[in-house]
Amino acid sequence: MTDIDQLINEVVAANRILAHEGVVDAYGHVSVRHPHDPNLFLLSRSRSPELVEPEDIMTFRLDGSPADGRSDGAYVERFIHCGAYEANPDVMSVVHSHATSVLPFTISSVPLKPVIHTASHCGGNIPVWDSQDKFGDTGLLVSDIDQGRDLARVLGDNKVALMRGHGFTAVGRSLGEVLKISIYLPQNAQVYMDAIKLGGSVKFVTPGEIAIRDSFGPGGRELKRAMDYWARRAGCSHYLEYKKS
Ligand SMILES: [Zn+2]
Repeated sequence: MTDIDQLINEVVAANRILAHEGVVDAYGHVSVRHPHDPNLFLLSRSRSPELVEPEDIMTFRLDGSPADGRSDGAYVERFIHCGAYEANPDVMSVVHSHATSVLPFTISSVPLKPVIHTASHCGGNIPVWDSQDKFGDTGLLVSDIDQGRDLARVLGDNKVALMRGHGFTAVGRSLGEVLKISIYLPQNAQVYMDAIKLGGSVKFVTPGEIAIRDSFGPGGRELKRAMDYWARRAGCSHYLEYKKS
């Protein structure tokens, strides 16, 4: 098995994990930057994440065109990934989700911030991209490279950007890191909403606490533990078997 074959299996596992954890449903997607060519990335053809198989994984250029000669239907919103990889060479993996618990913060003036330690990797600043600002009335999707680049502009150096009335896009320095961000962001949103309902004030994770946790880095044993757990729960551990050897 080549390293690309292994990476394809990891992307398949990531799709299944995000589906099982409720981060994506019929819609949503996850990609990784190609390890040998930073101008390419791996992303499934247009399929619901829980159903993705290794043969569904395609290779795309940063303009959204297929680089592997395949003409299989691609996600309309693949330009989310194009923009994120083009804008920041440190971005190695991207997730796009419509997670319900995050949606209130995409339409409210109340900003979403980390309130639980597991969501500290989402970063202290979570901007909101509103397609209306630059593109007026649209289908609320990111359906071309201009929209993808504008979303990446709003994302900036942050880990997450909310998308008005739509969902969120998260980026990471590794596939594991972006999975962690994407799984705990909706939980953080739910806890924050529950705390607001209690009344009184809400205490956020501080910038210093975020910096300390960020210094732990994008991978490591702690993240492997989580990956093993998520994959087992999702019934896709076999896609990560080689990692044990
Ligand atoms: Zn979407």
